[in-house]
Amino acid sequence: MSVFDQHRIEPGKKVDLRKMETDGKDLPVSREQCEQKFRAQREEMIELQERLYAEGKQKLLVVFQAIDAGGKDGTIRAVFRGVNPQGVTVTAFKRPTEEELAHDFLWRVHNAVPAAGTIGVFNRSHYEDVLVVRVHKLVPESVWKPRYEQINDFERMLANSGTTIVKFFLHISKKEQKQRLQERLDDPAKRWKFDRTDLDKRKLWDGYRDAFEDMLEKCSTTSAPWYVIPADQNWYRDFAVCSIITETLQGMAPKYPKPEDLSDVRIDD
Ligand code: AMP
Ligand code: MG
Repeated sequence: MSVFDQHRIEPGKKVDLRKMETDGKDLPVSREQCEQKFRAQREEMIELQERLYAEGKQKLLVVFQAIDAGGKDGTIRAVFRGVNPQGVTVTAFKRPTEEELAHDFLWRVHNAVPAAGTIGVFNRSHYEDVLVVRVHKLVPESVWKPRYEQINDFERMLANSGTTIVKFFLHISKKEQKQRLQERLDDPAKRWKFDRTDLDKRKLWDGYRDAFEDMLEKCSTTSAPWYVIPADQNWYRDFAVCSIITETLQGMAPKYPKPEDLSDVRIDD
């Protein structure tokens, strides 16, 4: 079974995150193998991205969700290192501004989707509107509940307009989160990332797990599948994410435009 199939949530499948691996240790690949394959795959991804850009037709949207300190920033940094920055846009979705809140929840998201020939990376996404918003009761249930269907409709529309979508949930354990938050306190170079509200969210761990499970169950579709990546160990996480993006790009098979006949062209001295 490829990494591709192994972590994909089949549409309609029941998801129990407590039974799903957060660790790469028991997987049938070693750290060395993963690191080696990761670097090779990243080279291939870079080559495919060049073609996607040159072709200028298809779009790829890559979504990352995780609990705080789940590794979204680190994955984006590691996996996309070396790609042509001209063809990739990364958007980090923060607490909505007043202007964003004055619109429907997909307004800011639609504005950030990738243009033809490019890859769009979402660091958090429209799923925050069924995660933090649900768990912290920022809107009533009658508002967040219909959003799963609204999201599926939105993603279907993007897919029908030439956007390939892959979504990654980086799955870490509660123990690993504690360690990472502690590192942010201890390491002066990481302190800027420490956010007191992350501790309030940690207290609601079970509520978040329920919300993540619903998101995965209700919104993994054939045109926009969710992948649950064991993410306690960076080396497995980066390898798995990069493999899936590379395989997805291979499936899109972008081609350099057919060269036109330029045999008549002469360049003046
Ligand atoms: P960070 O990704 O660490 O910079 O934090 C961004 C913060 O913005 C997180 O606490 C998110 O939960 C929060 N956030 C993102 N989208 C939304 C949203 N739609 N509504 C409320 N909070 C959000
Ligand atoms: Mg944060």
